Amino acid sequence: MHEFCGDVRVSGRKYEGVILDIDGVLKRGSKPILGAPETVNKLRELGLKVIFLSNLSTKSREEYVQTLRSIGINVWPEDLVLATSATADYVARHSKTRKVYVVGHEGLMKELRRAGLILVNDPEEAEFVVAGSPFDEKGFVTEENRWKFTGAIRAIMLANAKFVAVNPDKLFPGSDGKPIPGTGTFLGAIEAATGVKPLIIGKPSRLIYKVALDRLGTPPEKTIMVGDQIYTDILPAKELGLTTVLVLTGITRRDDLEKMDDVTKSKIDYVFNSVRALVKLVGGEKQC
Ligand SMILES: [Mg+2]
Repeated sequence: MHEFCGDVRVSGRKYEGVILDIDGVLKRGSKPILGAPETVNKLRELGLKVIFLSNLSTKSREEYVQTLRSIGINVWPEDLVLATSATADYVARHSKTRKVYVVGHEGLMKELRRAGLILVNDPEEAEFVVAGSPFDEKGFVTEENRWKFTGAIRAIMLANAKFVAVNPDKLFPGSDGKPIPGTGTFLGAIEAATGVKPLIIGKPSRLIYKVALDRLGTPPEKTIMVGDQIYTDILPAKELGLTTVLVLTGITRRDDLEKMDDVTKSKIDYVFNSVRALVKLVGGEKQC
């Protein structure tokens, strides 16, 4: 682990691609993190390919483009790898009948349809159960997902459907700031009933990182992952051979680093106060 302006090594390595986590790296809630839009522009000026990554289970890329544009970051759907779109890619590549039984929100359904999949109402027709979150921002199961607990169980038990999930995230802060259940809570219920564990596509699964690398077309050793969480951002990226950058604008604080064990710390190549320091790393400027 290298502090940006502490014990420094100047890597002569030339980077070609950057994967940027979004929440805690580029924005906090609906507000941009200081300097994030300018950093993205600068990375592009330097000729780096940039992909934006989010574990969100509810939105399609088209919808999420607006979220990033609203904080001053200009993106197109093909620049985004969301847990929804990566799941749709995976299922489309592995499906024979293209018939899926989906649990979740319209954004996930849009991505599945765009990938050429057919959303079925009868669980016993399904080749895949694709699970996002059935809950709304207040923690209620939405109207269209009311029967999906039963439907998913029947698809798995009666039609032998494969069980794939957008992300494993169990809890979120709700619109009132108190905890609400996420996709992982639904997965736990279905696993308890059927004994079947889902295949997770979103973070911390390496599958979503493979989709991002594919999209970038850059080798892992020439690609940087920038994130604010150890478990979901740093560890899987390091396993795939990417250079890892932890920023301190999100969930992980400097205090947390001090408490971290050495093995985990060794997976972090750089710690930056914010994403802005990335420009110096990729621009080849001498650090400090
Ligand atoms: Mg994050």
